[in-house]
Amino acid sequence: MPDYRKERDTTILDLVKLLLQLDEAEIHEDNEGNKIQTIYLGDIRSITPSGKVYYPFAHSNVDPCPRCEGTGNLRNKHAKIHNFRRANKKYHTTFQQWYKMYGAPINRRKKQQQLKEKYINQMEQWEYQHICTECNGLGSLEARLDEDFWEQLQSELDTIGAWYHSSEGDGCNILVSRTAREQYD
Ligand SMILES: [Zn+2]
Repeated sequence: MPDYRKERDTTILDLVKLLLQLDEAEIHEDNEGNKIQTIYLGDIRSITPSGKVYYPFAHSNVDPCPRCEGTGNLRNKHAKIHNFRRANKKYHTTFQQWYKMYGAPINRRKKQQQLKEKYINQMEQWEYQHICTECNGLGSLEARLDEDFWEQLQSELDTIGAWYHSSEGDGCNILVSRTAREQYD
């Protein structure tokens, strides 16, 4: 099986190799009749950082984040619930007033925008818990690494107009497709 992944590099894919393989791939039609070319990228269990298969929001078989113990949230030691509620109330009542006075949010002035940001900052400062910065609220470092991986994979594929997807027969098979190039002799 060809390996499109680069070693000792910050990028996931070897795009030159990948493009050559895509050029050689047979042109076929997808469900909507579009002509595409597809190659096999790899098994989800060998290409992702965690090497595990799970559904989003059901991280039962990934290790919980040691910082937040899998909850995705951290208790805020400086929480002041009373202050939080006050800021929250101010935020909402101010918004309702603005809406009556100016209509659509687009008409708001810079000063109002600043006030809105101020209330949001206050709420974040005093809320009962923060999103865990270690796992980005996902509750698992493995899940976070995987999430970063998929995002980076797609952004690299964007540069060559391709996308990843799983095969219909086996969800563990990750494929890469792009709209077929015109074939010249
Ligand atoms: Zn965490």
